[in-house]
Amino acid sequence: MFNKRVKISTLLTSATAGDQVTVMGWVRTFRNNQFIALNDGSTNNNIQVVAELGKFDDNLLKRLTTGASVKVTGEVVPSIGKGQSVEIKAGAIEILGDSDPEKYPLQPKKHSLEFLREIAHLRFRTNTFGSVFRIRHSLAFAVHKFFNEKGFVYMHTPVITASDAEGAGEMFRVTTLDLDKLPRTEDGAVNFKEDFFGRSTNLTVSGQLEGELAAMAFSEIYTFGPTFRAENSNTARHLAEFWMIEPEMAFHDLEDNMNLAEEFIKYIIRYVMEHNADDLTFLTQRLAEEEKQKPQNERSEMGLIEKLEFVVNNAFERITYTEAIDILLQSPAYKKKKFQYEVKWGVDMQSEHERYLVEKHFKKPVIVTNYPAEIKSFYMRLNEDGKTVAAMDILAPGIGEIVGGSQREERLDVLEEKMKKLGVPAEELWWYLDTRRFGSVPHAGFGLGFERMVLFVTGMGNIRDVIPFPRTPKNAEF
Ligand code: ATP
Ligand code: MN
Repeated sequence: MFNKRVKISTLLTSATAGDQVTVMGWVRTFRNNQFIALNDGSTNNNIQVVAELGKFDDNLLKRLTTGASVKVTGEVVPSIGKGQSVEIKAGAIEILGDSDPEKYPLQPKKHSLEFLREIAHLRFRTNTFGSVFRIRHSLAFAVHKFFNEKGFVYMHTPVITASDAEGAGEMFRVTTLDLDKLPRTEDGAVNFKEDFFGRSTNLTVSGQLEGELAAMAFSEIYTFGPTFRAENSNTARHLAEFWMIEPEMAFHDLEDNMNLAEEFIKYIIRYVMEHNADDLTFLTQRLAEEEKQKPQNERSEMGLIEKLEFVVNNAFERITYTEAIDILLQSPAYKKKKFQYEVKWGVDMQSEHERYLVEKHFKKPVIVTNYPAEIKSFYMRLNEDGKTVAAMDILAPGIGEIVGGSQREERLDVLEEKMKKLGVPAEELWWYLDTRRFGSVPHAGFGLGFERMVLFVTGMGNIRDVIPFPRTPKNAEF
C-alpha cells in the first residue's frame, strides 16, 4: 500500500528517532555505495537514506542511480552527518523505476537555465524549479484565500471569445475551418458563418469585460485564468499564454482600486514568506550567487528576502502620469540622453522609463495614475480634465508593469462617444453596454499578470522559468 508513505518534508520536520517509516522519491545522488540523497518534491531538502555496507545486494545498489525512483522502508535515526538532523537506516529498498545514468539528462551538477528549458519535462526535479513551482503554487493558493476572505466571488470567464477586450489585435484565432479549403463569401472574404461558432472567434486576451458583467450583480468578483496574446515580443517579461488575476469591484473608485491592489500584493507575498521559507532561502542564495557574476554597479542592493520584506513593510509610491513624465524630464538619465525612447507628455512610457522610476528614482513599487486618454483602453473612466483617464499601473522593481487597472467608465453617453472615437464596434458589445443601461454604478478593477508576480517573488530573471511549459514565439514544446 502506497498510502503509508511519509512525505520527506513531514519526515524532516516531525519524525523522531525510532519511528519506522516508508519514503518514496527520486534519487538525487548515491555516494560511497552507501548514502542515498532522496527527494520527493515536497521540499528541496533531501532525506539521507543509509544503506549499510554488505546488507544489500550489489545488483540492487548498481540500480541506485541519479533519477531512479525508489521505495525505502527503515528506521529514523539521528544523523551524525551535517545538514540534516535525522536520516533513515534502510531496512528494505525497492527500485520502482530505473534511470539509465548514461541517458538521464539531469546530472548532479549545476545546469544552465537555458539548458533546463530544453528539458522542461525534467526540470521540476531540480532544486531551483522545485522552489519556483512550490512558490507558484503558494501564490495561487494565496490569491484564492485573499479574495475568499474578502467575500469576492470567483468567476470563470470564457477562454473562447468573440470579443477583443482591448480593442487591439494580437489574438489567436480559434477555428475548425479547413485551412486548405476556406469557405468564401461572394466578395472573397473568409466566411466565418460556416465556422464552428458561426462567427470568427479567438482565445481571450482578458476576462475583464465579462468580469464587469458579474460585478454588476455580485458587487465583487475576481477571475484567475489563462489569457493569450499573440504578441511577437520576445522579451523576458512576455508570454503568449499567461495567467491573469482580474478582480472587478462595483462601488469602487480609483483610490479604492489602488488600495485593494496594494493590499493584495502584500498579502500574497507575505503568505509565501510564511509558508515557503526554505524555498525563499534557497532562491535568495541562488540569486546572490548569480549577482556575484555581475559587475558591481549592476548588482541589486537588496537580497531577495530583504526585497520582499521591504515591499510588504512600505507603502507603494503613488504618482500621476504627469508627475512621472516631469521626473523623467528632470532626470540625469534624460539629460545625458540615456533613454532610447522619447519622453514627453502623451507618450506611452517604455520599459526603460518605468525601470528608471522604480529602480533608480523611488527604489520601491510605484503606482502611476491618470494616464492620457489616447494611450489607454476605451473602458477607462474619463477624468474631469477631459484628457486623462482614471487608470493605474503598478510598476515593480526588476519587472516593470505588474498590474494594469482603472476605474471603468460607467456613464453610457461618455462610453459610447469614446467607443465611436476609437472605432470600437458598439453593436458587438451590446451586452457590455447593457450594464451601463441598467443600474450602472461606479466600479473599478485591475489585472495582475500572475507570472510577473512569480518572477518578482522568486527573483528569477526570465518569465519562461516561472511557468511550467512556456509558450513563446516559435516555441510550444511539451
Ligand atoms: P505590457 O505593457 O508589459 O505589455 P500590458 O499593458 O499589455 O503590459 P495589460 O493589458 O494591462 O498589460 O495586462 C495586465 C497585466 O498582465 C500586466 O500588468 C502584466 O502583468 C500582465 N501581462 C500583460 N501581457 C503579458 C504577457 N504577454 N505575458 C505575461 N504577462 C503579461
Ligand atoms: Mn502588452
